[in-house]
Amino acid sequence: MIKGTFPIDKFDGLRTPFYYYDCDVIRKTVEELRRWSQQPIYHIHYAVKANANNRILKFLSSKGLGADCVSGGEIEAAINAGFKPSEIVFAGVGKADWEIELALEKGIFCFNVESLPELEVINTLAAKHNKKAPVAIRVNPDVDAHTHSYITTGLKENKFGFNLSQIDEAIAFIQQSENLQLIGLHFHIGSQITDMTVFQHLCISINEIQESLAQKGVTVEHINVGGGLGINYHHPNHIPIADFEGYFKVFGLYLKLRPEQQVHFELGRAVVAQCGSLITEVLYVKQGETKRFVITDAGMTELIRPALYDAYHHIENISSEAEIELYDVAGPICESSDVFGKDVLLNRTNRGDKLAIRSAGAYGEVMASRYNLRQLPYAVFSDDL
Ligand SMILES: *Cc1c(COP(=O)(O)O)cnc(C)c1O
Repeated sequence: MIKGTFPIDKFDGLRTPFYYYDCDVIRKTVEELRRWSQQPIYHIHYAVKANANNRILKFLSSKGLGADCVSGGEIEAAINAGFKPSEIVFAGVGKADWEIELALEKGIFCFNVESLPELEVINTLAAKHNKKAPVAIRVNPDVDAHTHSYITTGLKENKFGFNLSQIDEAIAFIQQSENLQLIGLHFHIGSQITDMTVFQHLCISINEIQESLAQKGVTVEHINVGGGLGINYHHPNHIPIADFEGYFKVFGLYLKLRPEQQVHFELGRAVVAQCGSLITEVLYVKQGETKRFVITDAGMTELIRPALYDAYHHIENISSEAEIELYDVAGPICESSDVFGKDVLLNRTNRGDKLAIRSAGAYGEVMASRYNLRQLPYAVFSDDL
């Protein structure tokens, strides 16, 4: 069984559970990302919500990425980690007044606006601060991302963005507002998308929308296609890097741009997922009537994706080379959904063994909670060991 490389002897003495970040993986990932997105009109904004660890943010800002934020806290964290305000976009269906004012004060690049009442509030607050707020309309293109229903965002019935029938009204409102400036259109249809035809459909939909707006004399300088590129959760060792090549090629081939138009991408998961593993120790191996359970000291409080989205994570016993056996791997939290995997193939497992729950760099550490009054997990970086 091929396993990831972990400095297992250096893990001795470290309190579990913890997040382990492989710096080589994130460096290679960003290199590949850069390699396939070199066009000067392409701008990458890292989606901070995927992993807001300060060290990861600092690394990504040092590589020249912008930031995609969904809260005032993220805007602050991004700026503290070195992201330039002029490269920050701000999305979210429920921006509070203080968050809008913070963004205005910092001079972010663009508000990705999701409703008419939000436009009204931004206009009012911008007037109060004597500013003109740069806005992009988040459009719901009604493209099905064919991904889990909890992470599909581009459908009509979704809470996000404006539906196609509402765009004209939004644009009219911006045009008659003193303190708003329409600079772009924004799209984000979902997450963990690995079928590139979904992005092709997005491009076709954007082209149609641009065409119809152009007929009404409306053009914008910026097209933001959102994020959503998926990674391979089943084979983190064989396929450690997302398909940036395929992804950017689709936009190069299918997205029709007007002269001078700039394209913005908001990638989160694809940048950070594969560099992170949750390292946990086996507390008990428990024989049930029909199953054998491995009970770990990590649970849904450290990594909620399996409980929340029924997500798959590859699990390896990094302490054992014994023959492969079948286990259910579950955490200690008092919830039946606190299960990391069913019928998982692991080298024969004993109390005290360490497991690596792979591909946990995105929506892992950042979603940790103190439910059951647990301690929050901490992070270990391979460069420090
Ligand atoms: C979550 C989110 C992203 C990033 O999604 P990934 O699937 O992690 O790439 C990008 N844009 C917006 C508006 C988001 O809400």
